[in-house]
Amino acid sequence: TSAVDLAKSFLHRLRRHEPQLSSFLYVSPDDIVLKQAEELDNRIKNNEEVGPLAGVLVGVKDNICTRDMPSTAGSRILENYRPPFDATAVRKLREMGAIVFGKTNLDEFGMGSTTEGSAYQVTANPWDLSRVPGGSSGGSAAAVSARQCMVALGSDTGGSVRQPASFCGVVGLKPTYGRVSRYGLVAYASSLDVIGCFGSSVADTGILLNSISGFDKFDATSSKQEVPDYASQFVPLDYLEPKPLKGLRVGVIHETLGNGVDSEVVSSVRSAISHLEELGCTVSEVSLPSFSLGLPAYYILASSESSSNLSRYDGVRVGMEGYGNQVFGEELKSLYGDSRAEGLGSEVKMRILMGTYALSAGYYDAYYKRAQQVRTIIRNSFKDALDKNDILISPAAPSVAYKIGEKKNDQLAMYAGDIMTVNVNLAGLPALVLPCGFDGGSAGMPVGIQMIGAAFDELMNKLVNEWFG
Ligand code: GLN
Repeated sequence: TSAVDLAKSFLHRLRRHEPQLSSFLYVSPDDIVLKQAEELDNRIKNNEEVGPLAGVLVGVKDNICTRDMPSTAGSRILENYRPPFDATAVRKLREMGAIVFGKTNLDEFGMGSTTEGSAYQVTANPWDLSRVPGGSSGGSAAAVSARQCMVALGSDTGGSVRQPASFCGVVGLKPTYGRVSRYGLVAYASSLDVIGCFGSSVADTGILLNSISGFDKFDATSSKQEVPDYASQFVPLDYLEPKPLKGLRVGVIHETLGNGVDSEVVSSVRSAISHLEELGCTVSEVSLPSFSLGLPAYYILASSESSSNLSRYDGVRVGMEGYGNQVFGEELKSLYGDSRAEGLGSEVKMRILMGTYALSAGYYDAYYKRAQQVRTIIRNSFKDALDKNDILISPAAPSVAYKIGEKKNDQLAMYAGDIMTVNVNLAGLPALVLPCGFDGGSAGMPVGIQMIGAAFDELMNKLVNEWFG
């Protein structure tokens, strides 16, 4: 097939499913997409070199900056923002020949777990249109799941790649903190944020990770650690060998398979674990007593950092419709106030208030400082567990995708759903989510298993290569 044919068929598929799914906030005009594809075809015809992602159609979460498209982060306050630059991850994708052809929906600034927090639209789960796709990268997960695009980028501050991957039955990878440059990623909580990958196979996600990883002088926290070839090291498992994974030490996190986790989720994950045992892994239970402290620590730290990061949205540098005339003196103050009042959604405002409170003089020690101390405890407990095990396992979420509206007015219930993922961000570790079964009850929704590796050991992935195609 030619790049043009592929692009045409994906544009067609995208459009066909978009009325039901609403996974995209923006799609490039056909002629621009087809022109890029045509150029690739010409290069191939002339035997010129094309990158490893030549013709691959990519969806990018709308909090990642793209030069020729809007980048709203799901917020009204950035409705008119057209970045004059590409995020480093996007630039790299384009250099590899990928065609970035759309921007996907998200909870405003990445704050949420359903996409219901988007200022623009709610995305539906392709497996059941009355359910949420998860979030905040719900648009990317739904788009890959419905094959509206081949692969997609998301961002993961506390689970925003892994939980929607689980809800939509696709592969989601959260890289080690610092593996991928955050330059051009709209900041939510900078010490936790990382750009991640969605694909329909482990190999796809590996190729995607290959092309976006590496040091970047525009992000001081990006790592100089060498980037291994993730893609070529996905050695197919030899099923003829009786125990192809012999010797691999798998630690099952005890705290993640008990109370508060749906029984269908537990049984799917448990049966995946027995499969690992059949393949030769040495499975043992590990206890992380600090596991449940992750949620409160995460919400304090993420809110605190976001209250600082979001102070830059003042309605001046990127103006909103109708706020252009007030510019001086008192009017400047009301320009800030009015723009923020109008341009930011309620979840975002609540987090700014929470974060400002936690950081304020009289409360800093009681909240922010303690949360940092808890973070250290969590980081150390994961390190210990990963000294004794090659990977750690848990469900990706305590439930399958729930109904749209179900938790919309119950923030605490929504936050509680992040219990499986937030610790991994606090510890800065890589984690892969794979579909591992279905809720056998009436819902029939996909269940995801989470595999956590040591820092910069994304290649734990080789273990599951080809397992699920
Ligand atoms: N649901 C979590 C939150 O609302 C995580 C979001 C994310 O990873 N961006 O903060």
